[in-house]
Amino acid sequence: MKNEVFDILRKKRLSMPFFKKVIFFTAVLMLLTACSNSQPVPVEKQGFYMGTFISEKVYGENAEKAAGEVMDKMKQIESSMTINAPGGEVNNLNMQSGNQKVNLSEETLYVLGKAKHFSTLSEGAFNVTVGPLVKAWGIFTQNPRVPEKGEISRLLSLVDDKDLTINEQEHWAKLSKKGQVVDLGGIAKGYAGDAAINIYKKYNIKSAYINLGGNVVVLGSKPDGTPWKVGIQNPRAQNGVYMAVLSVKDKAVVSSGDYERYFEKDGIRYHHIIDPKTGYPADSDLIGTTIVADLSIDADALSTATFVLGLEKGMRLAQSIEGVEAVFITKDKKVYATKGLEENLKMDDESKEFEYVKKR
Ligand code: FAD
Ligand code: MG
Repeated sequence: MKNEVFDILRKKRLSMPFFKKVIFFTAVLMLLTACSNSQPVPVEKQGFYMGTFISEKVYGENAEKAAGEVMDKMKQIESSMTINAPGGEVNNLNMQSGNQKVNLSEETLYVLGKAKHFSTLSEGAFNVTVGPLVKAWGIFTQNPRVPEKGEISRLLSLVDDKDLTINEQEHWAKLSKKGQVVDLGGIAKGYAGDAAINIYKKYNIKSAYINLGGNVVVLGSKPDGTPWKVGIQNPRAQNGVYMAVLSVKDKAVVSSGDYERYFEKDGIRYHHIIDPKTGYPADSDLIGTTIVADLSIDADALSTATFVLGLEKGMRLAQSIEGVEAVFITKDKKVYATKGLEENLKMDDESKEFEYVKKR
């Protein structure tokens, strides 16, 4: 930009009276100042992995390399942790259920270990062995259906993460009953967000933003030093319409809700978050949850878990974990947040349907 300005300058200088020259040089000076004060331009990349649109915005010298490596990492995580396409480690673990141990990479074992940890903390509201039920309901497939009661109770006997044994020292895991299915849909995008941040840090990036279909993770602040703004989806409006905004630095902001994936039959909405105790889509008093945490894997597991638990138990769980904050949206359109978010949460609800309840 500066070179172009100097070129124009050289050409114009030849044929100008003095007073015009003064005005002209002042204007050029102002333009140059504006150029040097302008915001840095981010590297932006998009991809479609894990059934999700992923976009990133990365600032800094190595942004191009870092952003490219992140997309490669997304692809690799998808292929090793998917159950929606053939191949990969998790499919292998599921295929050997009731049969034998399966050797797994450190990162898959880490995600499985985290899943078991959050299952214990949430008293089973989060459960990665929910796979047989997820498959039976087929929500977001070509053939979603309401399974028969008998089928649900038969499949519930396969949902128990105590049947998932993990041995991190020897690098293997095993599912003890035939037909059991691990589904990392509620946690692996969270892991992928943390993996992205680690890549940015490796390249000495100080400011970056990545959105994995509603799982947002930010590194540092915006280049001008102000916090990143992350919108909270209005659960009853079309995708991209927000009802509140969170200001955050160095945080993961992860949401779950009954609006993301669902089908309707006979006027009933059947969504994709299954209550592992009933086998049916969770039917608490919530329609949306958002968790703010340092690690996106934690936020992902907790957004799903608290959605199943409902407002009171979900709030208690979020408050019991250090560094975790939460926003809950109830069926009667009330918004509750943990105390630590008081400064960061601003309602921005065009619909005027949601009420922020400050609870003490
Ligand atoms: P979350 O609340 O974070 O998770 C809900 C998901 O977790 C459910 O969809 C289910 O899979 C699982 N789940 C349901 N109930 C529970 C429970 N009680 N405890 C624990 N887990 C539960 N989708 C596609 O359409 N096509 C694909 O090819 C595809 N590939 C994927 C590959 C990978 C590796 C991953 C992780 C996901 C993939 N998905 C795919 C799934 C898709 O992206 C999911 O919708 C997404 O993971 C759900 O995230 P969420 O943030 O909407 O909801
Ligand atoms: Mg989740």
